[in-house]
Amino acid sequence: MRRPQGLTQKMNSAWYVYLLSYYVKSRFLNIKRPLMAGVKITHLCNLKCRHCPFWKKEKVSLSFLQVKNLLRRLYDLGVRLVIIEGGEPFLWKDNVYDIRDGVSEANKLFFSSGVTSN
Ligand code: SF4
Repeated sequence: MRRPQGLTQKMNSAWYVYLLSYYVKSRFLNIKRPLMAGVKITHLCNLKCRHCPFWKKEKVSLSFLQVKNLLRRLYDLGVRLVIIEGGEPFLWKDNVYDIRDGVSEANKLFFSSGVTSN
């Protein structure tokens, strides 16, 4: 059974080559691209922390297709590390899809992915 993982890493040679390429392009060619991104998949949360705006907002959640498309778009922009967050991402569902499917999609694309949770 697939399980959501707090952090998965594929620290292989491709990752180090990408990092080196990223550094050279950024430092010497002034090509600026994002390396890491956070994806807020839902405003739903089981807590109501005083400082936080999300539980006060409209309860918006992305669809699974939106999550897939957003991850793909981030990858195309150069992102290689992604954090899935909310709200509370473990509350996110879209029909039969849940956080495990979001993480699985992220793991197909990125060198490293993580989930922030309360
Ligand atoms: S999203 Fe985080 S900070 Fe906001 S209410 Fe939930 S647990 Fe608290």
